[in-house]
Amino acid sequence: MSKSHDLFIAAQKHIPGGVNSPVRAFKSVGGDPVFFKAAKGAYLTDEDDKQYIDYVGSWGPAILGHAHPEVIQAVQERAVDGLSFGAPTKIETTMADLVCDLIPSIDMVRMVSSGTEATMTAIRLARGYTGRDKIVKFEGCYHGHSDSLLVKAGSGALTLGVPSSPGVPKALAESTLTLTHNDADEVRKVFSEIGDQIACIIVEPVAGNMNCIPPEEGFLQTLREVCDEHGSVLIFDEVMCGFRVHLQGAQGYYGITPDLTTYGKVIGGGMPVGAFGGKKEIMSHIAPLGPVYQAGTLSGNPLAMAAGLKTLELISASGFFEDLSAKTAKLCAGLQQAADDAGIAFTTNQVGGMFGYFFSEEKNISRFAQVAQGDMERFKKFYHGMLNEGVYLAPSAFEAGFVSLAHSEEDIQATIDAAARVMKTL
Ligand code: PMP
Repeated sequence: MSKSHDLFIAAQKHIPGGVNSPVRAFKSVGGDPVFFKAAKGAYLTDEDDKQYIDYVGSWGPAILGHAHPEVIQAVQERAVDGLSFGAPTKIETTMADLVCDLIPSIDMVRMVSSGTEATMTAIRLARGYTGRDKIVKFEGCYHGHSDSLLVKAGSGALTLGVPSSPGVPKALAESTLTLTHNDADEVRKVFSEIGDQIACIIVEPVAGNMNCIPPEEGFLQTLREVCDEHGSVLIFDEVMCGFRVHLQGAQGYYGITPDLTTYGKVIGGGMPVGAFGGKKEIMSHIAPLGPVYQAGTLSGNPLAMAAGLKTLELISASGFFEDLSAKTAKLCAGLQQAADDAGIAFTTNQVGGMFGYFFSEEKNISRFAQVAQGDMERFKKFYHGMLNEGVYLAPSAFEAGFVSLAHSEEDIQATIDAAARVMKTL
């Protein structure tokens, strides 16, 4: 038996399910989760010293590859001056200035410690600003695990079959309207009926929590229009796609300007960070400037700011996103070829450094219902085949994959070669 197996048994004694976040438990693919002891560049090393080419990247943050020497150095240098102050530090202003410089829609930004905090607060802010309670989200999108947002959610909630979690008060769930993702007509219809009661729309402008689903032509534009017509706040949840599909995230990639944006993952460079920001007029409602309350003991933590700043600096290099996107496209094309050669019904989606793959007869996957109809048994077999080959993919058919700067041409080719071998066994 593997060390991971023994460690998983031991972990279950005092940790619910043996994990500190549900998708890690491999519930949907079966088998024991792999326990890792180190990560460097594009590779993970497990407790049995097996190496894997990694396409999870800590679920997105590792865009430079793991343990990038400059990021590690920035954190080490900060650490000797103290881990946390609970008081203002200069580096927080440096971070805020940089985010506002990079993202034209953001006049002011507040740092928090997770994506969940960022989206939860953005929702509260939109409600406080508009004086309305109802919010609109889309089925299959995941925005963290706060009460209002765990209604028909994606990611682990979907993977584990509890998209609407017990424990969410009915009254809150009733204020959350969940619409069909990428269905602009439905959005228009709902807004024409009750638009004046809706505080905000929150959307993953490139969805990554029901696999990777780009917006259909005109969808984001429709969201912008109905929010303008009805005085609702448009929130882009760019926790996953921000600084990932383009330096300016999905809003830069598609040229649609939200009122508020939420971040996580890349902006923390692997440390626990989230952020929300946007128009000054709305952000001025946040305490202590305004009455909408939000706070955090570790918010703006100096180590986290150091890792995030260095990461943002390095991904701002000219050509970074072109290279990342080209590499990701090569991976997707190679996986497609491997499937075609083996006669397996298969298709991929890609936006910048984010990708998804589907065992499906359909070629254009843009709806949650299509993802849900994919061949899950085949996915599981492929997953374990690739794991065996030393390729670590997301252990769920409802998650996107990520490529990093550290993935070499050889890594991509080795992954494609492994997929060609595995596809033949499906
Ligand atoms: N929003 C999106 C789009 C996400 O992908 C995630 C996490 N995968 C979150 C919010 C929640 O972030 P966190 O896990 O840091 O709380």
